[in-house]
Amino acid sequence: MYDVAVIGAGIIGSFVARELSKYDLDIVLIEKDTDIANGTTKANSAIIHAGYDAVPGTLKARLNALGNPMYDSVCKELDVHFKRIGSMVIATNQEEIKKIKNLYERGLKNGIPNMEILDAEKVRQKEAGINEDVIGALYAPTAGIICPWELAVALAENAADNGVEIKLESQVTDIEKVENNYHIYTEKEKIKAKYVINCGGLYSEEISKMVGDKSFKITPRRGEYNILDKNAGNIVKHVIFQAPTEYGKGVIVTPTVHGNLLVGPNAEDIDDKGNTKTTREGIELIREVSKKTIKRIPFNLTITSFSGLRAKPDTGDFIIEESKAAKGFINVAGIESPGLSAAPAIAEYVIDIFKGINCHLKGKRDFKPNRRPLIRFMELSNEEKSRVINEDPRYGRIICRCEGITEGEIVDAINRNAGARTLDAVKRRVRPGMGRCQGGFCGPRVMEILARELGKDINDIVKDGSQSYILVDETKSGL
Ligand SMILES: Cc1cc2nc3c(=O)[nH]c(=O)nc-3n(C[C@H](O)[C@H](O)[C@H](O)COP(=O)(O)OP(=O)(O)OC[C@H]3O[C@@H](n4cnc5c(N)ncnc54)[C@H](O)[C@@H]3O)c2cc1C
Repeated sequence: MYDVAVIGAGIIGSFVARELSKYDLDIVLIEKDTDIANGTTKANSAIIHAGYDAVPGTLKARLNALGNPMYDSVCKELDVHFKRIGSMVIATNQEEIKKIKNLYERGLKNGIPNMEILDAEKVRQKEAGINEDVIGALYAPTAGIICPWELAVALAENAADNGVEIKLESQVTDIEKVENNYHIYTEKEKIKAKYVINCGGLYSEEISKMVGDKSFKITPRRGEYNILDKNAGNIVKHVIFQAPTEYGKGVIVTPTVHGNLLVGPNAEDIDDKGNTKTTREGIELIREVSKKTIKRIPFNLTITSFSGLRAKPDTGDFIIEESKAAKGFINVAGIESPGLSAAPAIAEYVIDIFKGINCHLKGKRDFKPNRRPLIRFMELSNEEKSRVINEDPRYGRIICRCEGITEGEIVDAINRNAGARTLDAVKRRVRPGMGRCQGGFCGPRVMEILARELGKDINDIVKDGSQSYILVDETKSGL
């Protein structure tokens, strides 16, 4: 019997599991997919918002304002890339100047520090390439960029280092309350826990219904993106938003934490919670709307397109509470934007709720806050590279030529706690396949390493989903 079962290993479930692992508790993190961060967490704008956008008084506003400053320390503890590059919301006419002033006022109410309204000249001093018709901007220096799945994986790994058991490929299909405990059914087994925390993202509605709580509805709202080659990564230095319209925050143009350029998203309500297709219309729309920020984005340098699904709640705010229908069952649902920015504060908020319903919470003396640092070969000096190769020659073998990723890094990504089991899981952890060729050259070599390290037949290595086999048969086997 576990003390706590956390359902869903996105950024929220991973943060919550790690926060809980600071206490003397038996914890299990249950995830339906083959990896951590395979839901909304893997496909979003990756911005740690400053916090001026959400309506004052909402949980979104409060937890974004609290979450943003927590990022420096958590990323340091877990050795995760994070850059506080600041954001601008641009205005191209007087109507939009009014809008950015409203955002500024909201920001003051939300307690956001150091915001400024910039005139056209100051905007251009900060962003030389911005369109000439930009007449002002709301500047927020505390906004940042991150790699959300890198963080979620690091949190899950650190949670596992601190005793959390992670069960992947374990879709929760039913939950039963038996006396004071919960029996959680997956396709594989029955898991017993005293408390359940529902961090199921888009599916948190379905999970909540399993305990008879039908109090909210989640609608998927799709957003599509283009990601451009690193040669386009320095077109802007800040996260550039457009003044909000009735369709939302507009299209963002931003560098990524790894140096690419990200353009998107659009916003489209859809019915299917599994539909992460990109569409010609969606991509054309984001390219057209991005011209308002920068007229000539070199879309010929696009290396891939993707889409993510926002978990839009019908309540209009995050739903973070013990269910009224089921004692000891906590919903952490409707975590749409700024869910990533708010995530560390959401985890603390959940612990407070948890403390309120569980008087026996005791801090763990031997909690390990730090993750073993990664060796990122391309970030080392020449002396450090030589030393690392001397210690382990696998760091001298480059597997991914686009990103400069070595065999040593891939082997480490597989063999850590919460390690990679699929081709895409390796890609998300250490980036082979994230470059221009998108894995065309390194994919087969990464598969060989995965098969060797996991002791599997190479035919059993999957791309991402449990049935996404890459190799089907030998060619020329009859010759
Ligand atoms: C287009 C877009 C742009 C965004 N931009 C930003 C941004 O710039 N900044 C920001 O702060 N936020 C942003 N967000 C919001 C942010 O991405 C989310 O708030 C965050 O990723 C939500 O994380 P989560 O853990 O709740 O959900 P998820 O990442 O979806 O995790 C839920 C997990 O639960 C698992 N699960 C579901 N059902 C079951 C089941 N039955 N059994 C077991 N496991 C299950 C899923 O597989 C999944 O891994 C954006 C979102 C989108 C879509």
